[in-house]
This record gives sequence, C-alpha cells and structure tokens, in this order.
Amino acid sequence: MEIIASLKDAKKVYTTGDTTITALDSTTIDIHNKELMLIMGPSGSGKTTLLSLIGCVIYPTEGKVIIQGEDITGYTEKKLAGIRLHHISFIFQHFNLLSPLNALENVMQPLLLKGEAHAEAREKAINALERVNMGDRQKSLPRKLSGGQKQRVAIARALVTNAQIVLCDEPTASLDTKSAALVMNDLKELARNGKAVVVVTHDLRLRQFADRIIYVEDGIVSDHLKNEEDYK
Ligand code: ADP
Ligand code: MG
Repeated sequence: MEIIASLKDAKKVYTTGDTTITALDSTTIDIHNKELMLIMGPSGSGKTTLLSLIGCVIYPTEGKVIIQGEDITGYTEKKLAGIRLHHISFIFQHFNLLSPLNALENVMQPLLLKGEAHAEAREKAINALERVNMGDRQKSLPRKLSGGQKQRVAIARALVTNAQIVLCDEPTASLDTKSAALVMNDLKELARNGKAVVVVTHDLRLRQFADRIIYVEDGIVSDHLKNEEDYK
C-alpha cells in the first residue's frame, strides 16, 4: 500500500454573516491505494466536507491537503481543477449521469474531456462497462436503467480514467439493499485493482465492505463509533 492523499491538520470553518460553523475540526489522515475506506457519520457531522477536502473541491481553512505527494495549499482554482481531472473521480448518490447521453457516451465523457481520441475512448469505455457487467446496456439512456445499473455506469465512468482516487458520497443511499451490495462489491474490486476508494455513508450496514473505517461526529474524526443511536 502507498499513501495517495493526506490531510495534515486540515480544518474547515464556514462563516455566514456572524455565525461560524466548524464543519470539520483539525484532521490528519492518510488515504491508501488498494483500500476501501469508509467515512461514517450521522447527517450533518462533516462527512461531505471531509470528502470535499480530499477531492480538492474546497480549500481547508487551516492545514494542508496533499495529493500524490503534491501540497495543493495555495493552488489557484485552475490548478486545482487540473488536479481533480487527473487524480480524482467522483461518484454521487444521484449518479450524475448526463441524461441525453447513453451509458457508453457517459463513460466516454471524462476521456473525451481529457482529449483522448474517440475510438480509443470508446474501446476503454466498453471495457469498463463490461467490468461492471453493463456491457449489454451500452446504448441505454440513464432513464431506462434502474438505480443500481445507473450507479454501475457511474462506477465504470470513474474506472476509465487513470485517476487513483475514487471518492463516493453516499453512493448507495438511493438503492435497495441488494443493489447496494453489488455497487459496494464493484467499489471493492476497484480498490483491489489498485485505486484508493473512499466511501462516505451514514449507513452502518456498509461496514462489512470496508478495509478501514473512520467515524466523523460533530466535525471530529476518530477511529471508533461513539454512539450508534445517532445513526438512526
Ligand atoms: P454531512 O455530509 O455529514 O451531512 P456536511 O459536511 O455536509 O455534513 O456538513 C457539516 C456541517 O457544515 C453542517 O452543520 C452543515 O450545515 C455545515 N456546512 C456544510 N457546507 C456548508 C456551507 N457551504 N456553508 C455553511 N455551512 C456549511
Ligand atoms: Mg453529506
């Protein structure tokens, strides 16, 4: 295992008017490749904030974010966008597929954005869809797919690029238990094949899929669960 990303005393404070909220208190963690890490916590605890820091979507108020050895503190928005494009894939609760595009076109999208040739992008996308058992649904539009199938297309889209970091925010929240298990197994497979996979969830049942679990409660990260009742 290697360290792919780190937070070093990273903290996020939001100020709106005269109220300040510490969304995430000072946090130090390492993210490894070949590992599926779960970030668990009740609603409002700071999970998305933590994921957004790792994903270079927001800047820390204090501390550092390091991606593949690069300290991104002080980077311009443009440079950060470049880091996201090359190192990070995102998977969300609502799949975020482009509705006018079929499954294949959705998966090709990040490759075309990176400037790859159409034929090459197509081949890689077909390959990725096959890896998540969606090879026979290339031509399907998102609205013709079930929630679980849409999420597998989203996983294929995360898989086509060489991004080492796959960040998932509540990826199973819209799915039934069986589809959720399929999606989690696909994500685990990504980790086994070398990616650093981070999954944010408030669903304690997902713990069985994790290689490592951290808990966020009231903006404070720890390696143990304080109060199971908060998750109900
Ligand atoms: P979770 O993902 O665990 O539900 P979040 O990270 O979204 O939690 O939010 C943590 C806390 O930070 C919450 O109190 C939330 O209201 C606050 N927060 C999140 N984003 C913002 C923002 N952009 N502006 C102000 N407050 C925010
Ligand atoms: Mg959230």
